[in-house]
Amino acid sequence: MPETPTPSITDEERRRLVGLMFAGGALAALGSAPATAQDSAACNSIRNPLLWAMAYKQTAAEFHALCYQAYNLARMRIDLALARHDPGDRPLALIADMDNTILHAFSYWGYLINEGKDFFDDAIWDEWLPNNLITAVPGSNDFFHYCESKDVEVFYVTNRNQGERTFEYALAHLKYLKFPYARDENLFVFRESSDKTPARRRIEESHEVVLMLGDNLNDYRRDYYVKDVDERMALMERDRDDWGTKFILVPNPTDGHWVRAIFGDSEPAPTDENRQILKDAATRVAWDRTLSAKRPVK
Ligand SMILES: [Mg+2]
Repeated sequence: MPETPTPSITDEERRRLVGLMFAGGALAALGSAPATAQDSAACNSIRNPLLWAMAYKQTAAEFHALCYQAYNLARMRIDLALARHDPGDRPLALIADMDNTILHAFSYWGYLINEGKDFFDDAIWDEWLPNNLITAVPGSNDFFHYCESKDVEVFYVTNRNQGERTFEYALAHLKYLKFPYARDENLFVFRESSDKTPARRRIEESHEVVLMLGDNLNDYRRDYYVKDVDERMALMERDRDDWGTKFILVPNPTDGHWVRAIFGDSEPAPTDENRQILKDAATRVAWDRTLSAKRPVK
């Protein structure tokens, strides 16, 4: 099954980007306020904190390689499970999260940046989502079809809320990208809670769950659902042997409960107070040059 083509930056887009950067640099060099509202929008847009994370997602071959790495590892784990699986045993299954694990939403984030927005916007997300503008995470589609060929059942478990049609939209995404097991009984959608435990328990009644795929600690265990950065880190360390064995993690630098741990809210408001909190997180450890000057390397 061929992968959905990954959008890459075109020459025209690169020229536009360079033009915007040049305009921003020229304004900064003049040290003056933007002359027009249009300049202001361009200026804000190129100073958007989302730029690094989204440029990484949209253009870094390394990001896409990490996705393949996750799915290559997942396949190895499935092969190991199959090797020790006897015909009379419970059927094998795996659980996969959807957003940022099997689906990428690049055009949503690109739109936010073009609009000068630097925080997740729920209203725009709900408007964007039904348009089937998602792409498959590299490696995901081939891997799930491999699972199907080996009778390893795939269950999709997601937290989404777009109202009454949430389930319909999620199922449409699976069908649109031609994922196997895209049917009602293999999809669990939690609208009111981010707790995925009930789905896991239900699946384990009939299957041996050998693998879980996600981009967020909460995709694996509910006790990861804590608000403190250090506490999350400690829980992750506690389970260090599970990473790459029971839990396969796909990287996501734009959103997830790591954001909630910083702000105390999964969808923080786009305020200057929150921008300061983001800056504090990014400079949690920072070189104090004055101290180094007093302790030169000998
Ligand atoms: Mg996710």
